[in-house]
Amino acid sequence: AKAKGPGGLRFFSPEMSGRARERLALEADLRGALERREFSLHYQPQMDLRSGELTGLEALIRWTHPLRGNVAPAAFIPLAEECGLIVELGDWVLRTACRQIRRWSDAGLAPRHTAVNISAVQLSRGRLLDSVRRALDEAGIPPEQLELEITESFVMLERELSFQSLADLRALGVRLSIDDFGTGYSSLAYLQQLKVHKLKIDMSFVRDMMNNSGNAAIVRAVIALGQSLGLEVIAEGVEQAAQARHLRELGCDVMQGYLFSRPLTAEDATTFLAGAGKS
Ligand code: C2E
Ligand code: CA
Ligand code: CA
Ligand code: CA
Repeated sequence: AKAKGPGGLRFFSPEMSGRARERLALEADLRGALERREFSLHYQPQMDLRSGELTGLEALIRWTHPLRGNVAPAAFIPLAEECGLIVELGDWVLRTACRQIRRWSDAGLAPRHTAVNISAVQLSRGRLLDSVRRALDEAGIPPEQLELEITESFVMLERELSFQSLADLRALGVRLSIDDFGTGYSSLAYLQQLKVHKLKIDMSFVRDMMNNSGNAAIVRAVIALGQSLGLEVIAEGVEQAAQARHLRELGCDVMQGYLFSRPLTAEDATTFLAGAGKS
């Protein structure tokens, strides 16, 4: 059976490649997925490398397609960006995460902060400031509990645009984190002006840090940079105890990865938070 998009008819010309066809089909399904409530957020815990305590969570979107099952964000986020749907979807992510933070706060379980991924498209034409303000107001949570992850490549490529947007968001009181750090050719002077709170070392460097001296050097440099600018440094994609040990020795503050926990459903994250509170 083939799912019909809300637009009804779709024409596939015979010259169209299988891939292009596949994209069109997925995009059509994506358009109705919000209404059909096929999205959910999972939450991955972050751990303080010195104390072992849970410090925060990162919200990660999940799409359960009625026929395809789970579709990876890497497969549909770029599509949502291309067709502009990411603005609405990003808004949903913000509101859902803020409502969840509120529930955890009410239960006395809220972590220090919960991070949400922000797409470059939301930042450049999404009225992001309004959207964030509304999500916070609606849920009635303090802005410091919300952290926004913005990729280094966007921040560095779109300086004029990102500088003002980030300044506005900072003034609102939310925390800012630079995602996938190390991949985007940061200018140090500019990074200092941005006054973000956190640098997130890209997973690709962490993955091979134990047997690739180049990647190990980048990890070390990012940690040193964060320390000299007074920023929190988090490593993502930590899977092995040896990596965690080495990161702690290098002075990295926080880690996130399968070693500590996989991304969890809201329900499982609640159980995790309840367990983390006990000692
Ligand atoms: P990201 O922001 O860099 O997120 C980290 C990805 O690494 C997540 O993949 C996470 O599940 C995965 N991960 C976490 N720990 C480990 C580990 O120890 N090992 C390995 N191999 N992977 C680990 P996921 O959830 O598939 O998300 C992929 C990307 O999709 C994200 O990369 C982010 O760029 C995007 N994304 C996810 N959720 C959202 C969202 O709500 N909004 C936007 N705009 N983008 C999102
Ligand atoms: Ca992220
Ligand atoms: Ca990342
Ligand atoms: Ca990434």
